Amino acid sequence: MQTSSFESLGLMPACLEALRYEGYDHPTPIQVESIPSLIAGRDLLGCAQTGTGKTAAFALPTIQRLTLTPVKRQPHKARALVVAPTRELAIQIDVSFGAYGRKTEIKRACVYGGVGKVPQVRAMERGVDVLVATPGRLLDLIGEGAIDLSAVEIVVFDEADRMLDMGFIHDVRRIIALLPPKRQTLLFSATMPAEIDSLARSLLDNPV
Ligand code: AMP
Repeated sequence: MQTSSFESLGLMPACLEALRYEGYDHPTPIQVESIPSLIAGRDLLGCAQTGTGKTAAFALPTIQRLTLTPVKRQPHKARALVVAPTRELAIQIDVSFGAYGRKTEIKRACVYGGVGKVPQVRAMERGVDVLVATPGRLLDLIGEGAIDLSAVEIVVFDEADRMLDMGFIHDVRRIIALLPPKRQTLLFSATMPAEIDSLARSLLDNPV
């Protein structure tokens, strides 16, 4: 790989500072491949497993794009949505956004099933920049009017093959139907079964 510094990927100073704080010296291959294109607003299909650094690969450009185009937060709305199959992964992604966005004003919420809804509803009352969610609870809170996807600019589907295995594919399709057509879309999957391939084809616009 030619490029081996975060600076050369086009990341803004606040992100570089957060990476120094994390102690990351060099980008991983998926970060080198994806960060410049994501900063430029391209869609992305990522074939990657956990442990490759994929969370930073999508979180850093998302934080940067949201920070560089400030928009007033709106009640119940999020500018970026990350959909993940499990509560554990959702929490991990939310914590990563907190770490990589520590030098920015990014406001976050994380919603998942198996716990009370009230704190999650409250967290969405004034709107956020980044919402990380599991599919079932997300649809549940949309149905209750606590979450509105009409302002989403960037959407990430993480571990799409696991969502398929866990029976979330219909929920995922329902979520997609609620998103604005003009958006940046990222899909990550460790494997590419036919159903994920067809989802990717219908979802992504000329992806990297
Ligand atoms: P992920 O694949 O996103 O689950 O990340 C796997 C682990 O690698 C996490 O613990 C990250 O904190 C860490 N990590 C991500 N990118 C880098 C990097 N460029 N240098 C060192 N560690 C990293």
